[in-house]
Amino acid sequence: MSLHCPSCGSPQVSTHLSAMRIAAFIGMLGGALRGAGTILLTGPAIASSGLAKPPNVNLNALSSAILNGLVGAAGGCAMGAQLGEKLDRHVLAHNHCLSCGHRFNQTV
Ligand SMILES: [Zn+2]
Repeated sequence: MSLHCPSCGSPQVSTHLSAMRIAAFIGMLGGALRGAGTILLTGPAIASSGLAKPPNVNLNALSSAILNGLVGAAGGCAMGAQLGEKLDRHVLAHNHCLSCGHRFNQTV
């Protein structure tokens, strides 16, 4: 796929996907916190009731929190990236012509 500047027709166009990066990062953080948070919130209740082997319970809760956080981060990152890409493509002028300096949105 090659982009051409609508103003001067130059094929030298740079694309900035700033909103995609930011949204992906926010989505990743949110997903990680949500994934880890659900386990960490239920973790202390499990740990206090499990009197037999508290260290193992804590370790399991911690590893589950990390795993859920990673899964949540991956999902959140993908969702954020999709949202940010739409923002970049349709709302923000993310294409910058290197020949004439014109900024424009991708129409398709
Ligand atoms: Zn141009």
